[in-house]
Amino acid sequence: MKEQSWDHWFLNDSVGSIINQNLASETTRVAIEEQFAKLSHPYSGATLSEIKEMVEQIDIYPKEGLPLTKALFELSQSVLKHSIAVHHPHSIAHLHCAPLIPALAAEQFISATNQSMDSWDQSSVGSFIESRMIEWLCQQYGYNPTSDGVFTSGGTQSNFMGIHLARDHYAGSRWNWNIQQKGLPPEASKLRILCSEMAHFTVRQSAALLGLGSQSVISIPVDQHQRMSTLHLQETIESLLDEGLEPFAIVATAGTTDFGSIDPLTQIAEIAKRHSIWLHVDAAYGGALILSERESIKLAGISQADSITVDFHKLFYQPISCGAFLLRNQEHFGYIRLHADYLNPEDDEEQGVPNLVNKSIQTTRRFDACKLLVSLQVLGENQFPKMIETTIDLAREVAHDLTQHSSFEIINPNPEINAIVFRYNGVNQNYTDHQLDELNYQIRQALLQSGSAVIAKTRYQGHVYLKFTLLNPRTKRSDIQALLTEITKIGKELEGGLIVHAISK
Ligand SMILES: *Cc1c(COP(=O)(O)O)cnc(C)c1O
Repeated sequence: MKEQSWDHWFLNDSVGSIINQNLASETTRVAIEEQFAKLSHPYSGATLSEIKEMVEQIDIYPKEGLPLTKALFELSQSVLKHSIAVHHPHSIAHLHCAPLIPALAAEQFISATNQSMDSWDQSSVGSFIESRMIEWLCQQYGYNPTSDGVFTSGGTQSNFMGIHLARDHYAGSRWNWNIQQKGLPPEASKLRILCSEMAHFTVRQSAALLGLGSQSVISIPVDQHQRMSTLHLQETIESLLDEGLEPFAIVATAGTTDFGSIDPLTQIAEIAKRHSIWLHVDAAYGGALILSERESIKLAGISQADSITVDFHKLFYQPISCGAFLLRNQEHFGYIRLHADYLNPEDDEEQGVPNLVNKSIQTTRRFDACKLLVSLQVLGENQFPKMIETTIDLAREVAHDLTQHSSFEIINPNPEINAIVFRYNGVNQNYTDHQLDELNYQIRQALLQSGSAVIAKTRYQGHVYLKFTLLNPRTKRSDIQALLTEITKIGKELEGGLIVHAISK
């Protein structure tokens, strides 16, 4: 058969295509190395409008196709040059990790084989590998052989699934009502979800998407360590019941996004059990602690959860996206199972064919389990936990350094994982909160504009704070000390402006 002009863009048995593929990956490798890996700054400092203009100039669909190496080279000049360099020691804004090279290598396998995890006949080995990875994960979290799970696009999807199954389980057992078939029950507006005020916004988002409205989410206050107060949880459940409302799910957080605080899981599990309420643990951030003998104690009680969210594109150092949803009782996947004749017919199930779409709200789905597998294999038990522990040690040291500076105020001096919330209070400590908001806002902005550091800002008790998320195991204490010196320098300069501003008022 005649070769088509596009044939060589796909993997096939011709040598030419392999050379082409290698050439492309060599170009990519060189470009990544030159334009990205060797950066002195985590960001080019390009402004919003500069980026916008540059992207507008891209010729998306040229008449004559470009040589691949040229397309990649051009991309390296725009995309790579102005991307946030997540591997840089001063790239410490979000729960956004530097990816492991073994996982990047595995990404090539994932994309090149392009297995789809929805049905066994699209991912013969992949389905079994994902299932084994899930089995391994279930063991790590103390689940039993009747537990199960599925890889997801991340915490948002996993939290959604947890609350979804909790809702349908509750309606089934409380009113013998099948939501999958009949939609929401008449009592739906009475359903309530409890989580701490520090819980991730996707709890509210899930409630809204699930037809319960954000009104269904009740925020429980946290203690001084930003952990859910179990006293308030207990009281709130009782008062909701007194009002005739239906609390059906508790979402505990193991690693809040801002503080990394971990709710008291054992106590919460007891309360949930006492009231027959579904417990979902959002361990998107903190789930990785399970790998560390030293740190896993912080997750004590997680095995009592009815479902768990874990993200691998955070503290497991996987390229986006990669997450999992784990379920203590696998039968509960029945609430989302639907059969499509072409994909996962019922007789397949009877014959034990693993069509993983039965457990997922995605249909076509990436073989992301593969990159986690390769990463765990390459780093092994000797390295993986240590890498995580290093970041926790660093956070403790940086917190200590911050308490030594009189011009800084730190909210969590004993960080549970590796996130630190603080602000610059100035040399002259008499600023109003409003002035400090402005000062800290501008500090972060100045760092981003010069490209010297990418740090986060958040609000705590209504005011602007800065945040370091110290995920990067290659970031050193001296890197952060240098950054604190720079923040102080910028702060002092801005303070000059503040004072002038105040006088001129
Ligand atoms: C990141 C995060 C999420 C959302 O996960 P995605 O992977 O971004 O979808 C949910 N909960 C917590 C605690 C998180 O840190």
